[in-house]
Amino acid sequence: MSDQERAAKRAQWEEINRAKAAAKQKEQGTPDSAEPRAGLTQKQFQAIRGTRDLLPPDTALWNHVEQTAHEVFGTFGFGEIRTPIIESTELFARSIGGETDVVSKEMYSFPEELDFFRQNLGTISEAMQNEGRLNRYLNLVVVFSERLKDELNANRLPQTPTNLGAFQQLADLSSEALGRWNSGKTKPDPEWEELLGRAETMVRDFDLEDKESLRPEGTAGTCRAYIEHHMQQLPQPVKLYYMGPMFRRERPQKGRYRQFYQIGAEILGGADAPAIDAELIEMLMTFFDKCGLQGTELSINSIGHSADNCRRGYSALLRSELEKVKDKLGADSQRRIETNPLRVLDSKLEHEQPIIEKLPRIADHLCDDCKTHYAVVKHELELRGVIYRENWRLVRGLDYYMRTTFEITAPGLGSQNAVCGGGRYDGLVELLGGPPTKGIGFAIGEDRLILSLEESGKGAGRQGRDVYIAWMGERAYATAIRAAKDLRNAGCSVELPPTELKFGKALERASKLGSRFALILGDSEVADGQWTLKTLADGSQQKLSEAALLEYLRNQKAGL
Ligand code: AMP
Repeated sequence: MSDQERAAKRAQWEEINRAKAAAKQKEQGTPDSAEPRAGLTQKQFQAIRGTRDLLPPDTALWNHVEQTAHEVFGTFGFGEIRTPIIESTELFARSIGGETDVVSKEMYSFPEELDFFRQNLGTISEAMQNEGRLNRYLNLVVVFSERLKDELNANRLPQTPTNLGAFQQLADLSSEALGRWNSGKTKPDPEWEELLGRAETMVRDFDLEDKESLRPEGTAGTCRAYIEHHMQQLPQPVKLYYMGPMFRRERPQKGRYRQFYQIGAEILGGADAPAIDAELIEMLMTFFDKCGLQGTELSINSIGHSADNCRRGYSALLRSELEKVKDKLGADSQRRIETNPLRVLDSKLEHEQPIIEKLPRIADHLCDDCKTHYAVVKHELELRGVIYRENWRLVRGLDYYMRTTFEITAPGLGSQNAVCGGGRYDGLVELLGGPPTKGIGFAIGEDRLILSLEESGKGAGRQGRDVYIAWMGERAYATAIRAAKDLRNAGCSVELPPTELKFGKALERASKLGSRFALILGDSEVADGQWTLKTLADGSQQKLSEAALLEYLRNQKAGL
């Protein structure tokens, strides 16, 4: 490659980077938060939009919620599963559905750059408009093929025969194109159209699919692990729960983040007895109750199963009813009439509500088995004292979801008030290459749960230390270290200042830290063996021997 070509390529590369930055800025609506701000000489890093730091004291509430989940789920016989945060993109495309927003628009996938490249190439009809566009297109094809070479060499792209062949053809096309351009043929003409047409096919056909993505939810990974570790050979059903971060490139708002946290559970294998559905929901409500979440509302529905005498028949009926009122619906709903009429029922658009209310309801079109299943689920919930509300519009868009669906809303969350969603998905494990397996699960939005708890005043509670040790003098210091160790062993949180402070200053610090007690240790206290314990709330003081003091604080701690 000549220097001139290299320089041209570099210029193109810079142009792509500029385009990328502009696209990112457009998407985010604000300048990239990691960019230096005007007036700042040094770059100030900030958490990426849609992500946030969780800090003390708030993290205490997060820990409390997670601990409650461990305890409650444990009492229902669930074991924790930890799956990787990155999985193959294909896993999510297959389980969540390639056409859903979550997969097609919101996933963080790698290698992103090549995909971006591909999109940036546009179509050859654009390239054929004038000399400048043709030039740009050609340059992009050359750079794209160079990048493919790097990725293939580094083994970041699958070195399949198809990919290697496609790459070779693209490289040949690139040099053919350069040759043509350098011989002065710089205007769009039918020969260019033919050549670029071939290049376009190569570019589109190149298999970038073996990509990895940050998980947008936890069910797919759990089912993958169930299959991979042959868990169908364990006593069924297998009851698993998970907690951790999930990633979706959504538009951030209150209660909606790009990195958010879910706590979820799945019951895989075994039967689909309605009692399983009911017990899972009972566990969920017990968990919310133990967390102190008030004002929750549980909605349930049955979406039947994918058969002509059940959901499929209902879908067809719904579609034909929707066709009759198509003109009155918004663009999204109009599109869904064809692709997924059930999803029209999800619509929150105000003017569509009266129309939707008049549509046929799925409960009237379930097959006998599904009808019975639903009736027994409701009965089983009643046996367990779980209060529910039926919502015939609670649906799921994908075929493998069936029968029970449920959702829980909580107060204080504005429009994003769903704190948990769940349902039965008997076909999913099989769809992912496993044996036929029954399945049901839920995912709780932990961020929203915490937000709702905070809004209702169930915040983190007292965060201060139990004991602040105010020490003065060298002998007192040695005793203070020993006292700190003993108190910590007894479960107290203890602050031991690393340098000597006057007692007045030390007590000031103790109260700033929200300490309950200050243990005052001077050389005279050490010599007498009588330590002073001050209760900061009322200022009262008592003198106690070391053993008595330890005993006293231990009891206090137990009573906290
Ligand atoms: P889904 O996996 O979409 O069924 O969501 C399950 C639960 O996760 C929802 O009910 C929300 O509470 C929570 N959730 C989903 N997406 C987000 C997000 N972007 N930010 C915060 N919570 C979310």
